[in-house]
Amino acid sequence: MSELSNAKIHFNEQGTPVASDFDDVYFSNDGGMAETDYVFLLHNGLPQRWQNHTGSAFHIIETGFGTGANFLLTWQRFRQHRQQFPAATCQRLYFSSFEKFPLSLNDLTRALAIHTELSELCQLLLAAYPLPLSGCHRMSFDNGSVILDLWLGDVNTLLPEINSRTDAIYLDGFAPSKNPDMWQPELFTNLARLSYSGTTVATFTSAGLVKRGLQQAGFTVAKVKGFGRKREMLTARMELSAALAEPETLEVTIIGGGIASMCTALALIQRGIAVHLICEDDNIAAQASQNRQGAVYPNLHANLTPESQLHALAFLYARQFYQRWHNAGLNFAMDWCGLLHLATNEQLQQRQQKLIGKALWPDSLVRAATADQASVIAGLPVNHSGIYYPLAGWLSPQQFCQQALYFLQQQAEFRVSLNCHVAALTRQQDAWLLTTNTGEISATKLVLACGSKLASFDQSKVLPLNKIRGQVSHIKQAAMAPLKTVLCHKGYITPQWQGLHCIGATFDRLSTESVITEQDDQENLQLAQAQLQHPEWLEDTEITGAAAAFRATLPDHLPVVGTVTDQPGLYLFGALGARGIMLSPLLAELLACQICAEPLPLNLSLINRLSANRF
Ligand code: SAM
Repeated sequence: MSELSNAKIHFNEQGTPVASDFDDVYFSNDGGMAETDYVFLLHNGLPQRWQNHTGSAFHIIETGFGTGANFLLTWQRFRQHRQQFPAATCQRLYFSSFEKFPLSLNDLTRALAIHTELSELCQLLLAAYPLPLSGCHRMSFDNGSVILDLWLGDVNTLLPEINSRTDAIYLDGFAPSKNPDMWQPELFTNLARLSYSGTTVATFTSAGLVKRGLQQAGFTVAKVKGFGRKREMLTARMELSAALAEPETLEVTIIGGGIASMCTALALIQRGIAVHLICEDDNIAAQASQNRQGAVYPNLHANLTPESQLHALAFLYARQFYQRWHNAGLNFAMDWCGLLHLATNEQLQQRQQKLIGKALWPDSLVRAATADQASVIAGLPVNHSGIYYPLAGWLSPQQFCQQALYFLQQQAEFRVSLNCHVAALTRQQDAWLLTTNTGEISATKLVLACGSKLASFDQSKVLPLNKIRGQVSHIKQAAMAPLKTVLCHKGYITPQWQGLHCIGATFDRLSTESVITEQDDQENLQLAQAQLQHPEWLEDTEITGAAAAFRATLPDHLPVVGTVTDQPGLYLFGALGARGIMLSPLLAELLACQICAEPLPLNLSLINRLSANRF
């Protein structure tokens, strides 16, 4: 992930940003936005095409995100389209843009300052702009009607990692003479692979290499008048491959009532899909999502393992996701107060030294802290050095789930069945028949997101799911009130919320009952005291309550998301271990996009690692 370097830029006399290494401008000196309108929108038939588009989403691929000017103007035009034609079928814009040398946030802020007419959108983009980590960064704007997938890395490495068909292509990038590495034959063949009959391409250049590349990949190419003083540019169209008709999804049934289910329901409802949520408890978030507070931070490895790449991307997405729903009125407790992981034993110390030594991750995500620094950050004296995640924090999963349910219940397309236990699934014609204690329920698309019970159906029992009981204790201790961050050792302690801290959690692979025990409370407390070397502020603590539940994991420590071979319309989602709060938002988004055949927010090689068919 550290292989990404920020663009080196300067500004020319006209105030236009210039890439120093490529000696080329990001947009023309004649006024960037007029050029974008002319070259990329007009010559892809936009915004007119949105009026008659038959799908609910329109997908644009861009090579070279640069300053995001093309994206911002397209977003603005799409907003205008939605205002003008609220009943048009096309309700959502996906904009997938690839960038090998992302601008730093400071440079981007300066570069965008000239677009005063788009200042609101510029601010929203700047607020969501990701850290320079390779992979897909999904950002959602305007209540999910505009989705930006910023793929950081080389476009020729990343394009093979996506398979969502595209409606229009903005072929940008520095001039072929100045950036020959990008304009390779595989760029054109990959774009052709993602195109269907009717996909259009527009590019500022008229270079012979681009014209021939597009033609050889199967596009029909035309030269047209260029923008401003430029003589010519190219447009292209795919005529060969037939359009794929995607079956429309109308309703999805979800079995489960925890954070994975709630995030999936939100992602689907936002896409206009009806949701029937089935939960066997008398309220949602009664199992592993019942915790008062849960830490949200990625488990990063020194090397780029699939697990740590997933964690990094899912963590950044989760932060935005929760903030967005919080802003939308979901009133749940959340604090991005940072998280300290103290190296309280040899093994942790070695792991952390390796992590910091390899420097794979940017400082803004994780950095080393001495014991003195850690004490200042924590607000309480600690005896160990460690690593600090400044962007991490905690939130209340139970409150989030309850607030999400409250929001969902106000949506006409949502219904919930509580106290409904599904005993078995049978396939009948085009639907699944659910045998439940309250009668039979039919489902055309069915998501199993039922935590530790995920493998309890004939159709899912192939999953080697482990159930690990965990207990979190609630403690009262006035001396701990100054704690400002989540504090992890072998376990964790949260900052105070409503007068209590959470301290946990036990790992018990043998229990089959999730009952609360006093012994586990003592274990949590004694572990923290021993690991932290008996700080004064952890003496004489009062345990006021606890929560216990099963975490579900798979042997390779990766979650499961996706369809099951030979089980049409059935999706599995789970094995989130102790990381449901952090993983659910991105994986639910992935699942919703798989169900709706929309662009996926993760690279295919990672998605394959999460497949239900890997066992
Ligand atoms: N569309 C941009 C805008 O609206 O500001 C301008 C794009 S700028 C002319 C070209 C961009 O392509 C640069 O940001 C550059 O870093 C990026 N780029 C160049 N080679 C690339 C590659 N191989 N993969 C991905 N991006 C690349």
